[in-house]
Parts: sequence; C-alpha cells; structure tokens
Amino acid sequence: MKRVGVLALQGDVREHASALAGCGTEVVYVRTPSDLAGLDGIVIPGGESTTIAYLLGTSGLRSSLTGALTDGLPVLGTCAGLIMLSSTMVGGREDQWSFGLLDITVQRNGYGRQIASFETPIEVEGVGVVPGVFIRAPRITQWGDVQVLATYDRGDGVHPVLVRHGSAWGCSFHPELTTNLGVHELFTSSF
Ligand code: GLN
Repeated sequence: MKRVGVLALQGDVREHASALAGCGTEVVYVRTPSDLAGLDGIVIPGGESTTIAYLLGTSGLRSSLTGALTDGLPVLGTCAGLIMLSSTMVGGREDQWSFGLLDITVQRNGYGRQIASFETPIEVEGVGVVPGVFIRAPRITQWGDVQVLATYDRGDGVHPVLVRHGSAWGCSFHPELTTNLGVHELFTSSF
C-alpha cells in the first residue's frame, strides 16, 4: 500500500486525508520531521500559505521537507500548497518563502478575495472534467518549464490551474473539497 503524507500544520488536512484514503493509500499526518520516514508522496493542503510557511519553520520541518522534496519525494500542493511550491510569489509577506520547485509566478488571491470564491468545471488532461473549487485561489500569472494539465479562463485570459514538473504537482483549486478523486488519483498513480 502506498504511504502518503499530508502536511498537517494548518489548512484542510482532513479533507485531503479522506481523498487519499479514498484512493486506497495509507495516510500519515506529517507534523514533525520523523513523520516523513517511509513516505511515497506528500500533499501540502490549502489553507494560509503565510501560516504554513511559518509553522514549517517552527516545527523543524522546513529543512527536512526541503531535503525530501529535492530528493524527489512526489508532492501535490493545492491552493496555499501551490504557493508553497512556486518559485515566485506576488502579494506575499515580505519574509514569506517557498520551496521553489515549480517554475511559476503566483499571484496570491489572484482570482479575488473570499467573497469572490467560485466553483467551475475544469478539464484535466488524462482525467476529464472535475469540479474546480476556487477559494482565495492563487493565479499562475507566469510559467516556464512546467507541464500544464489544466487551464481556466476567468474571462481575462487563459491561465494554468494544474501544473507539474517531475515529481512536483501544483493546483490552484481544491480537489479535496469535492467527492471527485480525479486529481488525487492522477497524483497517487504517478508513483
Ligand atoms: N490565499 C491563501 C494563501 O495565500 C490560499 C487560499 C487557500 O488555500 N484556499 O495562502
């Protein structure tokens, strides 16, 4: 059975855990560096990227997780998790850091604030149509060497909403907030 971690410092951890369990994986809540042992993959949930970045530092996970991800541990980041994987953030805190595994620029809250949250069907390459829940979602405004697996046009241009570079996957929306397991299955079947 594949062993998949969910970074459990802040955000919608339980929702990812149940989606991963629905994909038939063993789920590990990752709160300390020792929780990374034996993982086949990890998810960084949606939530608040400034808080997740801060807690990664205080939990001691920042350097061990950086090492694991650099060594190729498969990772899926959704929403705030996508921000954590980006190379460049716009609208972040001055001292905010990210893992820089995806060659993308993300605009925090780039689809509008909480009140502008929306749901729309998204066509995902290799999966089909999935419900896309966007909540204070980051917008990918520039992208380089990444595979674009889904896009969305909010009426002001086409932007990627699901990207991959090798073992790192990032999603602007929240596949964990629906019963559709398509994105989680795509991720977990990649390793
Ligand atoms: N806007 C949030 C952030 O910057 C992300 C929102 C979310 O994960 N739903 O962290």
